[in-house]
Amino acid sequence: MPQRDPYEVLGVSREASQEEIRKAYLKLAHKYHPDKTGGDKQAEEKLKEINAAYDILKNPEKRAKYDRFGTADGQPFTGGFEGFGGFGGGESPFDDFFDMLFGKGGRRGGAPRPQQGNDLELRLNVSLKEAAAGVKKTVRFSRMENCDECRGTGAAAGSRPEACSQCQGTGQVRVAHGFFSVSRTCPRCGGAGSVIGKPCRRCSGKARVKVSREISVDVPAGVDTGSRLRIQGEGEPGLNGGPRGDLYIYMEVAPHPVFRREGANIYCEAPITITQAALGAAIRVPTLEGEAELRIPAGTQSGTNLRLRGHGLPDLRGYQHGDQIVRVVIETPSKISRRQRELLEELEALSNPKNYPQQAAFNEKTRQYS
Ligand SMILES: [Zn+2]
Ligand SMILES: [Zn+2]
Repeated sequence: MPQRDPYEVLGVSREASQEEIRKAYLKLAHKYHPDKTGGDKQAEEKLKEINAAYDILKNPEKRAKYDRFGTADGQPFTGGFEGFGGFGGGESPFDDFFDMLFGKGGRRGGAPRPQQGNDLELRLNVSLKEAAAGVKKTVRFSRMENCDECRGTGAAAGSRPEACSQCQGTGQVRVAHGFFSVSRTCPRCGGAGSVIGKPCRRCSGKARVKVSREISVDVPAGVDTGSRLRIQGEGEPGLNGGPRGDLYIYMEVAPHPVFRREGANIYCEAPITITQAALGAAIRVPTLEGEAELRIPAGTQSGTNLRLRGHGLPDLRGYQHGDQIVRVVIETPSKISRRQRELLEELEALSNPKNYPQQAAFNEKTRQYS
């Protein structure tokens, strides 16, 4: 089951304080408590989700990992789909990497803190057939990169950023606050610890420039509109040696002229003749892969749904495959020849009311209520 964003589950912003998170949790836990909902199954699932979300956000370390990696157990995604990683516990090599960057139990003092680069988002359109089979797509986007003229410093050639005089390069200033003094981000350098005297011409001192990029993306079979593909490390570069951000691709599956999709199943309609419906037949129907044979049993009524097993879409985990459901509709001939008229008249003369149960039931009801 795909895990929802814990912030979304608790309805709090990413900047929410621990106290705000705790309050939001208590409010929701109260609302979905079994005593209140009378053991409603959906409320129970909701409560489980709320508990799982709080479990991550109440713990600053887990929360920081979630913020950074999109999962609380620190397992890296490698272009996989959300929901596969899960929130299981356990050690991973990434924990060590995390500890190395930030030190166990908090960040290291002194050196500027490594920060992950910004995540990027884009939309990608695919057809229903591409969504069914999976497809390789080339996507183009632009992102900020470290300026290569100043090597990401923002300072013009021959000059370099100077240590900020207000904070002596620490990025923090101490401000007296009653009996205490508190640390604040330095207003002069914005916490960077350095200022640029002569800005680089290429990036105007911003240290970054916009660069367009093209990558090839494997869209797995089974995506739907709203599916989110995460490509790790394709976001913007990190700060102070931090990792790159990620690229999130939001899928949009175009509507199809013949097929309508509902989850993993697809639906379509096929017209058949009166005689095909009465005698039974095998007809060819379009499928996502091409064509398939659909057997119509003798005595099929108009509007019957017939199922082509396995001709729908796979689910994203690849465990199951949906079906194609064909609604057959009897089409009365719009014009008939003289010979056909004779045959149909003969058919009508020979018809036995017993073999038209719907008509018999209708007549019976009409008799009763008239
Ligand atoms: Zn530059
Ligand atoms: Zn400063």
